[in-house]
Amino acid sequence: MIDIRLSATSIRDYLDCARRFQLRYILEQPWPAAKNEPLLEYELSRQRGAQFHRLLERYYLGVDARTLSDMITDPVIRGWWQIHQDQQPVDVVTSERILPEKLFQAKLDDYVLTAFLDLVVIGTDDTVTIIDWKTTHREPNPQEWSSSIQTLVYLYVVGEKIAALQNHSVRLSDIKMLYWFVEHPKQPVLINYGDIQHEQAKSKLRGLLQPLSDRLKAESNIEWPKTPDIKKCKFCVYRSLCDRGVRPEATLDFDEVENWQLLDINADEQA
Ligand code: SF4
Repeated sequence: MIDIRLSATSIRDYLDCARRFQLRYILEQPWPAAKNEPLLEYELSRQRGAQFHRLLERYYLGVDARTLSDMITDPVIRGWWQIHQDQQPVDVVTSERILPEKLFQAKLDDYVLTAFLDLVVIGTDDTVTIIDWKTTHREPNPQEWSSSIQTLVYLYVVGEKIAALQNHSVRLSDIKMLYWFVEHPKQPVLINYGDIQHEQAKSKLRGLLQPLSDRLKAESNIEWPKTPDIKKCKFCVYRSLCDRGVRPEATLDFDEVENWQLLDINADEQA
């Protein structure tokens, strides 16, 4: 079998619904329906999330804060920017290296797992902190984030590849992941890692991906099953194709834009 690239988003898509995975990643079916309503707010939310991530990428690349601040025209992003400047979670002074928007990739059996990280901070004491910016309105739920597919994939991939980036071995217990919520800056979620968690992550990922491997070998030419849980269809863009409704669910609690980005599968491995 050829190496198949999977991100946290595509794994989550498969776990939600095999048919969605097939349509999106194998058949590359264009999206026939919007994911959420009201559409204008949804699009605005996506754009704001993307702009905020770009802003922080430039800031951590070293662009002057005043220059960046002068470029902001959207009042919501200006508010987020100010919150970040007042309460930013990264101690630039004690950091050895700060790597924004870093792609990590690591093999696991027939798969290449990819993680496009918002920020990686390497301390002078060799600690490694993966930071993920969140613009969601929802109150942070530590249990939910700790057990998310994103956390599983990001920590596993960094655990596999950080030594290559650093050119020397790194203790897995020195790796952490931090979710930072701009609308709840005093409630970050910090997740510790280590050798035991790394072995558990590998085993869990294998277990999650085995059904996909079986299906790819056996059922590549037939329609994969649709989820029996129609709640999963509420925000799915393929509702009309699956006869699971035409109009999307109305909500103001949108997924963040990065959750719906397709990774550039031709990107070079960086770590
Ligand atoms: S609409 Fe429902 S059944 Fe169809 S791909 Fe989406 S989640 Fe799966």
